[in-house]
Amino acid sequence: TVRTRVAPSPTGDPHVGTAYIALFNLCFARAHGGQFVLRIEDTDQARSTASSEQAILDSLRWLGLDWDEGPDVGGEYGPYRQSERMDIYGAYAQQLVDAGKAFVCYRRPEELNELRETRRAEGNSTALKHSDLILSDDEVRKRRDAGEPYVIRMMVPEESGVCRVQDLLRGEIELDWSMVDAQILLKSDGMPTYHLANVIDDHLMEITHVIRGEEWINSAPKHQLLYEYFGWDMPVLCHLPLLRNPDKSKLSKRKNPTSILYYQRMGFLPEALCNYLGRMGWSMPDEQEKFSLKDMQASFDIQRVSLGGPIFDVEKLRWLNGMWIREDLSQEQLAQRLVEWAFNAENLAAVLPHLQQRMETLSDFAPQASFLVSGELSLDATQFEELGMESEQLLRTLQFALWTLEGLQDWDRDSVWAALKGLADKLEIKVRDFLAPLFIAVSGSRASISVVDAMSLLGPDMTRARVRHAID
Ligand code: ATP
Ligand code: GLU
Repeated sequence: TVRTRVAPSPTGDPHVGTAYIALFNLCFARAHGGQFVLRIEDTDQARSTASSEQAILDSLRWLGLDWDEGPDVGGEYGPYRQSERMDIYGAYAQQLVDAGKAFVCYRRPEELNELRETRRAEGNSTALKHSDLILSDDEVRKRRDAGEPYVIRMMVPEESGVCRVQDLLRGEIELDWSMVDAQILLKSDGMPTYHLANVIDDHLMEITHVIRGEEWINSAPKHQLLYEYFGWDMPVLCHLPLLRNPDKSKLSKRKNPTSILYYQRMGFLPEALCNYLGRMGWSMPDEQEKFSLKDMQASFDIQRVSLGGPIFDVEKLRWLNGMWIREDLSQEQLAQRLVEWAFNAENLAAVLPHLQQRMETLSDFAPQASFLVSGELSLDATQFEELGMESEQLLRTLQFALWTLEGLQDWDRDSVWAALKGLADKLEIKVRDFLAPLFIAVSGSRASISVVDAMSLLGPDMTRARVRHAID
């Protein structure tokens, strides 16, 4: 039977790209009467968080992309979280070392940099091979006795030559071995890298088709080699085109909101977002634009995927969403959606602690909380003028703030505050003056809760989108 999977790393907000990949894996599995698995790839313990994992699960479920097996629903092939499978990987790495397919490497970071520098200066690929990394027996003994950290790396062909990989959509792909380095399989803390854990788990979970983003094509030679070393059949590989911004660049949060939470907060319907993602490089046999997940599953044929980079255009999504609102919801259902979306318990619990002390009547609620249930705000230049800031200074402030917010990893109240305060200090502007224009950009008026609270409630993508909008 066909088994597919989506394997997100819980290192940030749930990405629309993850939903897109999940959707195609789900439809492929359903079209073949197979199973769809969700696996959490959290081997990067420093960057993985439980809240990110929860947000990914919630967002995919919100979109209706249900999985047959996964960390929350269990299954025969579990556990489905790589951090709970740590005792599996080391033995496989050792097996490769024993077979001469992998080696222990005591090279230090500064030596690696030097080796790469030399290769670059010689005009060679900076991919390091076993022969580049090998140390004398004496040196190895010395480092081992001194308890220096080591990693396990895989052997890769030393001579240049072409590696051929089959792709379900692209046919035969040729990649040059000279670009492929002796990939680390097991890190010095005993943790596996993505490549080792991914191959082992796809094998143990009996995944038959690996459908993933095209950014992983360059990893395919390593994966193919690992399957060969272990003597395992390789799943069929299929690399989907990446989503793109309207200017054709790779969809990135610097140009476009990428978090599913943003689209939720903007008031897109999950059915419409799912429908739109289904149109990313794919179309129904009859070319109709509006279709349900069920329709897509029933008509799915992966060969209909076109490889030109699909453009994720929020304007198109709005148009499609409007059709869903007008054509598919009764007035009753629309009322229900509105209540669930705006006045759900979670939203209220987040905002009321800030508002209760400021309210005299219930009607004070709407103006103060409107920033939370609005999409993009219609701003008025005079609001900014009232601040009495020079327009150049104003723009600079907003632009610097945006750059800082784009780079921010954690989005809790304290992190946002620390980042903005740090920036204001660096620019030698009083924090109050610095935050004033942000206040307007983010909450639309000055009669609202503190700007940092507002930002933390709105989340990173909505906040960035509003600041970007204010700059435009
Ligand atoms: P950004 O450029 O916005 O920072 P990113 O590439 O850093 O995005 P990641 O956090 O690395 O995003 O990716 C999260 C998930 O989303 C990964 O599984 C990745 O494959 C997927 N993804 C990221 N960008 C795209 C894209 N343009 N198209 C499809 N999937 C994507
Ligand atoms: N964890 C990888 C990611 O975040 C999975 C890639 C794959 O599907 O092999 O995209």
